Amino acid sequence: MTANVSIDPTVPPSGPGCMECMANDGWWLHLRRCAACGHIGCCDSSPAQHASEHAAHTGHLVIQSFEPGEDWFWNYRTSEFADGPHLAPPENHPVEQPVPGPIGRVPADWQRRLH
Ligand SMILES: [Zn+2]
Ligand SMILES: [Zn+2]
Repeated sequence: MTANVSIDPTVPPSGPGCMECMANDGWWLHLRRCAACGHIGCCDSSPAQHASEHAAHTGHLVIQSFEPGEDWFWNYRTSEFADGPHLAPPENHPVEQPVPGPIGRVPADWQRRLH
């Protein structure tokens, strides 16, 4: 295994929201970015947990928070926080995008639906 095979800092994020939730009318709490391919997925507190699902399906082991002001990485293999390089911009979702998001799709009782 090559070091850092899970991180490609040249790949931009896939978009402003979770790829699967945007396709399926879902919603999310926080967003995570795959450091290998740029896939944006929802966090483990979100109903669908697409970031973890993406990692399990692809073997892409490292994510970075896609939340404004957060730059930590997480390694699924070691289950530890990690440091990493600056990834291709943007490094977080649009600041005007609410948490949870996206606008218009979050149910009123969203707090009861978190994991
Ligand atoms: Zn999702
Ligand atoms: Zn990936």
